[in-house]
Formats: sequence, C-alpha cells, structure tokens
Amino acid sequence: MKFNAPRGTNDILPPDSLKWQYIEQKTHQLFSNYNYQEIRTPIFEYTELFQRGIGEVTDIVEKEMYTFTDKGDRSITLRPEGTASVMRSFMENKIYGQAQPTKFYYLGPMFRYERPQSGRFRQFHQLGVEALGSNDPALDAEIISLGLRLLQDFGLNDLTLHLNSVGCSECRPAYVEKLKNYLLAHRAELCENCQQRIERNPLRVLDCKNEACQEVIAEAPKITENLCSDCADHFSDVKKYLELVEIDYFVNPLLVRGLDYYTNTAFEIKDNALGAQDTVFGGGRYNGLAEEIGGRSLPGIGFALGIERLLLSLEAKDIELPIPAGVDLYITVIGEKAKRKAFKLLDQLRNNGFRTEIDYLGRSVGSQMKSADRMQAEFTIILGEDELNKDSATIRNMKTGTEIEIKLSNLLTEMKQLVDKEDL
Ligand code: ATP
Ligand code: MG
Repeated sequence: MKFNAPRGTNDILPPDSLKWQYIEQKTHQLFSNYNYQEIRTPIFEYTELFQRGIGEVTDIVEKEMYTFTDKGDRSITLRPEGTASVMRSFMENKIYGQAQPTKFYYLGPMFRYERPQSGRFRQFHQLGVEALGSNDPALDAEIISLGLRLLQDFGLNDLTLHLNSVGCSECRPAYVEKLKNYLLAHRAELCENCQQRIERNPLRVLDCKNEACQEVIAEAPKITENLCSDCADHFSDVKKYLELVEIDYFVNPLLVRGLDYYTNTAFEIKDNALGAQDTVFGGGRYNGLAEEIGGRSLPGIGFALGIERLLLSLEAKDIELPIPAGVDLYITVIGEKAKRKAFKLLDQLRNNGFRTEIDYLGRSVGSQMKSADRMQAEFTIILGEDELNKDSATIRNMKTGTEIEIKLSNLLTEMKQLVDKEDL
C-alpha cells in the first residue's frame, strides 16, 4: 500500500520550511510594529458561520467548502478563510467591551475545494489582519501599507495596488439596479454563468474573466461614479492617506466584492511577474459583516495574503530569503570515548546557542566529513583518543580551509570568537 498526500495539499519540507519560519517571524515582528496582535481561532467552525459570514452566493460557500457531519451530528466546516472566525470570536468574547479599534492578525492553513494548479491549492496558508471598531479611512490606508510593507521587507516591489470603493447600503443598491439594467440590455453577449448572475448577484459579473463579458463590462456603469457623498469622501481620504505614505494605486472600478456587507474600500495587490494567480493579497472593508453574523453593528477592514503566492513571487524574482544555511560545528569522532566527549561538548554548545551535530551511524571519518559537508557545517573538528589525551584539537573553517589549534576545554570560548553570533 502506497500513500500519497491528498490532492491539492503539500508537505512543507526542509529547507523550504525554514523559509516559512522566516516569513512567519518577519510577520510577527512587523505586525507588532503596527500594533496588531495575534489571534488563533479553531481550524473548524460550525458550517453556518461561513454560510452567513462569507455569503451563500459565493464560490467558496457554493462549491469550495470542506463540510462534514461530525459524530454528534453537527455540520462542521474546515475554515476556508479567517475573517468570519475572527468576527465570531470578537463577538463571543465581547472584545467590543475593550478599547477600540481592535487590531488582530492571524496565520494558518485554510481549506477550499478548488482545482489545484500553480498558486492554487486545497490546503493553503494565509496570513491576514482585521481591524475592528473604526471606520477611519486612515485605517484602510494603514492596512494596505502594512501588507505592502511586509512584501517589501521580503524584497518584492514590482506590485500593483488595485483600489476601489464599493459604496455602502445607501448608494450601492441604486448602482446595482443600474448595472442590472445595463447587463440585461447586453444579456445575449454574456457567458452563460454571467447570464445567471444578473439576477442573483450582478456585481459578480464584473470580475468574470470571459473575453466577451469583459467587453460588455468595460462599458458598464462604474461604481466610483455612483457613490454617495459619504462614500466618495471616504474613498478620497483613503487615497490621500495612501499618498501621504507614498503608496501608488490604480483605481479599478471593476474590483468588487459581491456581497452586501462589503462596504467602501476594496483592494488587491497583484504581482506583475506572476501569471494567472497573480493576486498576492486582497481585502477590504466589511462594515456590514458583524450584523450578518448576529452581532451588533461594527465597522471592520482586513486583508488576507496567500503565503504560497508570496513564495511564488519570491521564486519568480529569484529572491533568496536569508535563511540559516547549515550547522556551526560538526564534530567528527573516532571511537566511543571521543563520541562521549563530543556528546557532552554538543550539549554545552547547543545550550549556548550554537547549531552543532555529530554522527549517529558509526560512519568512518571520511563519511563523517562528507556529512559535515552536506550539512554545510561552517566549522569541523576531529576528536580521537589523541585529542582527548592532549586536551587539544584542530578546528577547521570549511570555507577557507584555515585550521587553528585550540584547547578542547576552551571550545565554547573559541566558538564564540569564531562564529559571528549576530547571525545566529
Ligand atoms: P482568487 O481570485 O485567486 O481565487 P480569492 O479572491 O478567492 O483569490 P481571497 O479569498 O481574497 O482570495 O483570499 C486572499 C488570498 O489568499 C488570495 O489573494 C490568494 O493569495 C490566497 N488564496 C486564495 N485561494 C487560494 C488557494 N486556493 N490556494 C492558494 N492561495 C489562495
Ligand atoms: Mg478564489
């Protein structure tokens, strides 16, 4: 019997897992500078939370959820995204009782039954932020700047910010009506899918990839020209705040989120070097979501970034993350007595922050040296009876070939001098 990982999932193996750790560390650091704090919610929730929180008329809820009935006969769904859970937790734990806004971030696996392809998986990982409790346009700009800053910290600059406003419950219904009438007049030119969407959710026609639909859409009424004055002001303030921190944007009136609880700002960050799956992160305001999942009225804004897409972007640009290469010291041993001594030395070195390794397969000296090479050891040392008796050994810099004699009992002090602790 041979087992494969389920379709659309990936094992994250070393050294790749080190990249993931690096990305996660950077995230924790940067997000804390912006005063966002980590929240960890369950990997699964009651299905209804996502039906309400994501919306029945979405691809995610209609086609992509991993839903099952548990042994207690409850309908459970593996989380396909993070916002609904964060909002649920915010309400359940009455966090609205604390000083606002609340700024959360999360990081972890999400599950969607999609057709696996480059940049699209069934288990994938998102890092996301949610700022709850304020409708300040400065917060919209902060969220966008945070995401862009994170990508910049990884060396990604060739990005385009697509920005739009989708209005609010005041101005959107009239716009949707206008759009519907326009689409009905062009019904015959639209793809079959979009023909059905006209009645169910006409906004979703705007992001159809079909060429014929694109032509119709290009001439459609634009939401940006149909905003009420509050929404127009909000949008113009977001743009001003972005300009303040020198973030370029491209207003894309076709960028919409199809659901009623999305309001005002919508955005996507695209990597110009990626092909079909080029959106690295996207998000927007959802001032109507809290009410939708049974709570009070509460403004919110957030984004979610796909970590696999981020890694693809880095790959496309040949950007290497500064992950630690190998061990600091490999101790090659000859004989059992030397091994025991080495084992003790390892313990001391590791407790002092050095990455060290020895052989566990009784290999010859030659094979041990090969292992050291494979592990990209920065230094090696050979320990035999002789070295033990004389309390002296030769430590070798594997890159330069330089060797120095040291007292074995001084190994820790010597290593401290040899290895630049800065990059430990
Ligand atoms: P797409 O249009 O690419 O399907 P989406 O609108 O479904 O994206 P969101 O739900 O906004 O995406 O999720 C935010 C981010 O999560 C995306 O921009 C992308 O980077 C990532 N993402 C979404 N779905 C997947 C997936 N199946 N596999 C890998 N990454 C994904
Ligand atoms: Mg999708």
